[in-house]
Amino acid sequence: MKKVLLAAAFLMFAVPAMADEDARCATGTYRINEVCVKPTPEQGLELLLKGNAKYIKGDLDLLKKYASPTVRKEVALGQKPFAIVLTCSDSRVPPELIFDKGLGEIFVVRVAGNIVAPHELGSIEYALEHLGANLIVVLGHEKCGAVGSTYGAYPNHVEGNIGSLTESIYPAVDKVVAGSKPTGAVEQAAQVEECILENIKIVSESLESKSDIIKELVEKGETKIVRARYDLDEGRVTILGE
Ligand SMILES: [Zn+2]
Repeated sequence: MKKVLLAAAFLMFAVPAMADEDARCATGTYRINEVCVKPTPEQGLELLLKGNAKYIKGDLDLLKKYASPTVRKEVALGQKPFAIVLTCSDSRVPPELIFDKGLGEIFVVRVAGNIVAPHELGSIEYALEHLGANLIVVLGHEKCGAVGSTYGAYPNHVEGNIGSLTESIYPAVDKVVAGSKPTGAVEQAAQVEECILENIKIVSESLESKSDIIKELVEKGETKIVRARYDLDEGRVTILGE
């Protein structure tokens, strides 16, 4: 009888403890090894990839957990995003859905072709210096139209405002094509995918060469830059290296 009572008492205490386990941590912190902490760049990347795994399965937390009215009011007081995602404006690549992250969690910079010019650099620097983010993900994607347009015009250049974007992608296309394009549609499509990877590489490298603030934070080990590619059909984010 005593044992039963003890078990019942244990359950009474155990239930709130389990519920508490699931409780959200304060803005900007996450439960890692049972403690609410600000994630390191490595832990931040793990959070993003766990979110991506949930997205692939169609099991998103963001609406019920991270975009609730409670969270909305909480983050209205101040944002502490742990990661910055630089990605394309493509309507099929929304970072919050892909990583299952809600209000206040990721600072998103979106521009066709996920390029970096002074405006994008300024946005990234702001999130690093003023909001405390410590991870930068440069996320390119399969069948990127901006890269495709640059490739289509090559060796000529696209004109007008779109041309101002594709000029930034031109070096990646130039490096991959290196002269003349193949004639077959399949070969050309494969080469566009190579250009997409090269563009991600060039952009992530240029973050440090174009910004002293980013360079210094990376050298001090306080910020990490990660390259990634998003697969449109599978929904999977693949990390390409640092
Ligand atoms: Zn794109």
